[in-house]
Amino acid sequence: MADSIVCLPIEAAAPLPRRSRQARIVWGSRVVTVGGDAPVRVQSMTNTDTLDAIGTAIQVKELAIAGSEMVRITVNTPEAAQQVPYIREQLDRMGMDVPLIGDFHYNGHRLLTEVPACAEALSKYRINPGNVGKGDKHDRQFGQMIEAAMRWNKPVRIGVNWGSLDQELLANLMDINSARPEPWDARSVMYEALVTSAIDSARLAESMGMNGDQIILSCKVSGVQDLISVYRELARRSDHALHLGLTEAGMGTKGTAASAVALGILLQEGIGDTIRVSLTPQPGESRTQEVLIASEILQALGLRSFVPSVTACPGCGRTTSTTFQELAKQIDDFLREQMPVWRNKYPGVEKLKVAVMGCIVNGPGESKHADIGISLPGTGEAPAAPVFIDGEKALTLRGENIATEFHQIVENYIEKRFGRADVTEPA
Ligand code: SF4
Repeated sequence: MADSIVCLPIEAAAPLPRRSRQARIVWGSRVVTVGGDAPVRVQSMTNTDTLDAIGTAIQVKELAIAGSEMVRITVNTPEAAQQVPYIREQLDRMGMDVPLIGDFHYNGHRLLTEVPACAEALSKYRINPGNVGKGDKHDRQFGQMIEAAMRWNKPVRIGVNWGSLDQELLANLMDINSARPEPWDARSVMYEALVTSAIDSARLAESMGMNGDQIILSCKVSGVQDLISVYRELARRSDHALHLGLTEAGMGTKGTAASAVALGILLQEGIGDTIRVSLTPQPGESRTQEVLIASEILQALGLRSFVPSVTACPGCGRTTSTTFQELAKQIDDFLREQMPVWRNKYPGVEKLKVAVMGCIVNGPGESKHADIGISLPGTGEAPAAPVFIDGEKALTLRGENIATEFHQIVENYIEKRFGRADVTEPA
């Protein structure tokens, strides 16, 4: 039996290449490309009242510092639209050139027309084709938003959501379905309606003169399997850049796991050019959590690197000490806190791999795979912690100050490996 098995080299898994057009989201000299050969972008959305311009600007800044490359804000009333240029001005004053996206529903056609300063200050408009008007108003009001986008040279996201799906389109597809000899199930018709709404809207925008490269599509649903089905079909039928996200993902571990699974599967298939994790913040939790999770998803897939990674073992009965947990957390926190400074000072540091392990079983092996690793003593092991640098055992730490000394070793390693002679610390 074994003789009949042909052994071939096992290739490393990797995300499939993407094949979408590229949109450009611009503010000042900042250009964020989405799609084509651009890296998958992270974006997020504020949950402040847009009327609170200062509070919104501060949250946009926090999200941008956390790694959000574009930030969407709600634009729901004339008063909110009037605050948009002021929010933009506040961000510019703070030196934050992150592009702002306006999220419009129901009255976007009027707001973009009647408040031109809002239309100008935004770098992209989100249009929900299910919420632009019914009957003969639909195409006219949709067209007004597209005209504003062309006038101000802004890209748009045609963002379909199954919570606000175009009901006339759905009813029409239901009628067509019921006339089929073998009707599809209701879920398949819903999928078809989502994809059709996005693609037909993109065609309509292009027929009005919009450059197809400047159209990004999304079809958000809240179920993981539904999202996978819908986006596979959307990617099959369209070459527009895709905004990917599981809508209403939920809170905490549930929202995180659901988003990671759904986005991970699709990104591995090359589907998705910009992502948002729609996490409901837990009471007291920072809005930036959704940005960190989105970044972690991309980093876990090997699509992008944002912060050095810390590999830590889960711990088990072989170690009753929590030292490795504390050390792993300290190192992780330290690396994240330093990244805003290190991005410029230590180019490439985001690819660093650190291992903090709990005992001799996997400790030395895992530490050797990292750039720098430490294997702490498990229960009953000699009180010594070998440190591995670039795969070789470099030294052994002992005593009470293992954590502090390892911390210093990591800093020294970063300075030596990633330090640039031409960059000096600000005074
Ligand atoms: S490295 Fe040691 S302590 Fe950590 S999980 Fe493995 S066996 Fe347990």
